[in-house]
Amino acid sequence: MTNVLLIRPKPHKDTIGLKHVMICEPLELEYLVSNLEPELKDQYHLILIDMLLDNTKLSKHLKQYQPSVVIFTGYNTHVNLIKAYSKEIKMFDSTIVTAVGGVHVEVVPDDFKDVHIDVLLWRNGIDAFNMLLRGLRANTSIQGIQNEIDQQMLNTEFAYNPPDRQINAAYRAQYYYMFHNPCALIKTSFGCPFKCAFCFCHEITGGQYYERTLEDVISELKEIREREIYIVDDNFLVSEARVRKFIEILRQEKIDKHYLIYGRADFIAQNAELMADFKAVGLHGVIVGIESVREKDLKSYDKLTTVKINEEAVAILNALDVECYSTLIMPLDFSKKDFNDLKHWLKKTGVNFVNLQPLTPLKGTAIYDDYVKDFIEAPSDVELWDMAHIVLTPKYMSKRQFYFRIWKLYYEVVMSPKHLIRLVKKYGIRPNLKMLVGSSRVSMQYILKMIRG
Ligand code: SF4
Repeated sequence: MTNVLLIRPKPHKDTIGLKHVMICEPLELEYLVSNLEPELKDQYHLILIDMLLDNTKLSKHLKQYQPSVVIFTGYNTHVNLIKAYSKEIKMFDSTIVTAVGGVHVEVVPDDFKDVHIDVLLWRNGIDAFNMLLRGLRANTSIQGIQNEIDQQMLNTEFAYNPPDRQINAAYRAQYYYMFHNPCALIKTSFGCPFKCAFCFCHEITGGQYYERTLEDVISELKEIREREIYIVDDNFLVSEARVRKFIEILRQEKIDKHYLIYGRADFIAQNAELMADFKAVGLHGVIVGIESVREKDLKSYDKLTTVKINEEAVAILNALDVECYSTLIMPLDFSKKDFNDLKHWLKKTGVNFVNLQPLTPLKGTAIYDDYVKDFIEAPSDVELWDMAHIVLTPKYMSKRQFYFRIWKLYYEVVMSPKHLIRLVKKYGIRPNLKMLVGSSRVSMQYILKMIRG
């Protein structure tokens, strides 16, 4: 029996991220554990290390477990970190096989091509993982294993065992998303039928959208111990019929949980009654891509929504007392007036949870090439491409001023006394203190950006 380490790295210290206000379970690694092929189980012992919660140094894990294989998962911001860890692993023992999976390698595998990384699990991660271990057991060459992985077609059936949530039992109480605490993740569909120009999500499945059956989803849901459920579909509100059926089953089966989902504003605006039904069976929050309060931006992003639709969606969620976590993109030509207009719109509509993202053309998206000439951060400094750093030259103000405007807007919207009083009434003091500590850390990162530029 040899050890296989499954590692989720901690983000780089320079990455500004939501890590201070949310830590979600590494679902993709849990899927690997539950789907290890039976004939491989007597040979490989899987160990999951979540470096977001485990501060032990990699070198100590290597000494303790003496693994034969180490597999990383990560986003674009992890590329350099994973390369550095892989180098450290090879220096420790050059016979350890290193591999990378996760959403970034699925879209931009070339980013992980590195002398210290042996295998790229870039397509059908779970199948590729088993191919890797099967290949190693059969003494297949690394190149032979990679060839087998590369030759796969995209598997859209998703006939896998539910994730193993026992493997990280020690960490589970610490997984949360803002006020959803503790919180478990579930994925019911893959990709998105829409094609917003800036979006990375639909690139992961090569533009395809596919779903798990609701029977399968519900059977997994019933086994989850946490009451707070974060449905991490790129867009859960795709089909009215599917959402309706999901609500019906929850009602019939008397499943008593709270849900946080991603959904589009146009679906919400067109389905007010359905959203009320969803609220009645536990819908607590929707992350909505509002994206902009300027029509021209929505058009240029191919968002297929309008400011009016966004306003209708927010009004519906507010009337239902369902939290609206809105994401907003600030392009290069954002002026002081645009920041003010955005603030007034957010105050007018009652949107209090905002994720303000300076426009970030991620590698692998449709808009990447259009903006190369505007880059002020090198794409190789991946830790800064976190959708919070300013990576493009602002047109009407300095980079420092742009950071200042973002930081100010966060404070004016999220920290408004009216909003804070509402939060304390709704969630109590302790969760609010936790959020305050987390948001202060994010705030400090912005302040450093304002000082250092
Ligand atoms: S932004 Fe949302 S709606 Fe648009 S393609 Fe991405 S997931 Fe789909």
